[in-house]
This record gives sequence, C-alpha cells and structure tokens, in this order.
Amino acid sequence: MIRLRTKAEIEKIRRAGRVVVDVLQDLQRMIAPGITTRELDRYAEAKIRSYGAIPTFKGYRGFPASICTSINEEVVHGIPSERKLREGDIISIDCGATLDGYVGDAAITVIVGDVPEEIKRLVADTQEALYRAIERARVGNRLYDISYAVQEYAEARGYGVVRDYCGHGVGTEMHEDPQVPNYGKPGTGPKLRPGLVLAIEPMLNLGTYKVEVARDGWTVVTADRKPAAHCERTIAVTEDGPVILTAMNGDAERFTT
Ligand code: MG
Ligand code: MG
Repeated sequence: MIRLRTKAEIEKIRRAGRVVVDVLQDLQRMIAPGITTRELDRYAEAKIRSYGAIPTFKGYRGFPASICTSINEEVVHGIPSERKLREGDIISIDCGATLDGYVGDAAITVIVGDVPEEIKRLVADTQEALYRAIERARVGNRLYDISYAVQEYAEARGYGVVRDYCGHGVGTEMHEDPQVPNYGKPGTGPKLRPGLVLAIEPMLNLGTYKVEVARDGWTVVTADRKPAAHCERTIAVTEDGPVILTAMNGDAERFTT
C-alpha cells in the first residue's frame, strides 16, 4: 500500500535526511587512500547518534553496520571492514537515519584519488541518471516514468542497469511501497500524487547488468566484476514539483522550489 505523507511528515523526513546528508558530506571529506571502511562506519554511527537519531541500517535484517560501503565491483550492501581504501577505488556509501520516527536515505559514490576516464564517466552518469529520474517525479506522471528515465539515459551510454535491486517508498519505514525499479515502461505504474516520498537510487554497471550476492550473504557484486556506481536521494512529490529531502553536493539548486 502506497502511503502519502502530509507536509508535516515530509518535514520530519527532511530532518532525518539532513542527518544523513551531514554524515555523507563528512565521509566524503574523510575518504582517502588508507582509511578503512570500518573507520567510516564508526564515524557515521557516532555522528548519527549525536543528533539523537538512530542508524536505520544497523540491525536491519541483521545488517551489522550503520552504513553500506561498496567498493569497485560491489554494487550495494557492502559491509564495513578493515579493508583500506586505495588510490583508484570508487566507493558507494549508503546511509540511513531515523529521527523522531521518520527515515532519510541517501547514497553517494566517491572516487578515491584518480581513476580511469571511463570510471569517472560512470560515476558522473549515475548521478545524472538520478537527476533525470527525479525530474520526472511530478504530479501527473506515473511511477515508471521515473524508472524509464534511468534506463533510457543509462542504456544509451552502454551501462548495465541493475534489475535485482531498486528504490522504494520511504517514510516511517526505510522500505515502503512502492518499489522504484531503475527500468520500466514509461506511462505505466501508479500515478504520482503529492505526498509521495521515494528513495530513487540508480545502480549502473560498467559491464553486465547481472549481479550476484557474495559469500557474506550481503554484498551485491557485478557478475563480471566490472565496477558499479550507485547514487540515491530521498525525494517528495509535491504540487510544486520534486523536492530533494537529502539535498547535497549542489543538488539544491536543481530541484528545490
Ligand atoms: Mg540507501
Ligand atoms: Mg534506499
């Protein structure tokens, strides 16, 4: 069942989202060769709790950490560990915070040092696919218009669009209806109405769209082990257009109304 949120509820999701943004922006600055993903996780958990918020991921279906750290061929759900980041890695960091009963959810992919041009392009294009999807999150459109925006942009550039994992509604739970796939038929799916809050999260692979789950039972990796990028924002559909509730890194100018 799709729940529409009141303006007051959307404001609460935005407050939770601000916690997530603060954490991700700090982590973005901390990322450098030599830091371990566990250090990033410890920092994130402490920072989330300093706001009186709860790390939404920790304990979610048994997930052991407060952020997901997915490096190179890892797409999503990587578990923080003693692994050190190295020059030439890319890392997706996904973070969720629950504040006053409402959830914010966002992810960024960060380049560590320098990487080949095609990987830079993968990261930038994943972010652009996300913006194009958000742009379609308007009253009068349908859900899979959002999905198709990702697919159209990504496939035209030769990327594999992950099908086994997708975005989702977000509110008092991290994963609510509807599911928001990164592929779909335009003009189909539920009508978008004011108060719909979604986490939109393209996952684009340099090679095949196919993925596998690693032996740890969590980490999703590309089947061909080529790199993947992942970006996510929590957004609200409003009468005035899409509003990003986890705006960062220059998002705000594009979508706040
Ligand atoms: Mg997320
Ligand atoms: Mg999500």
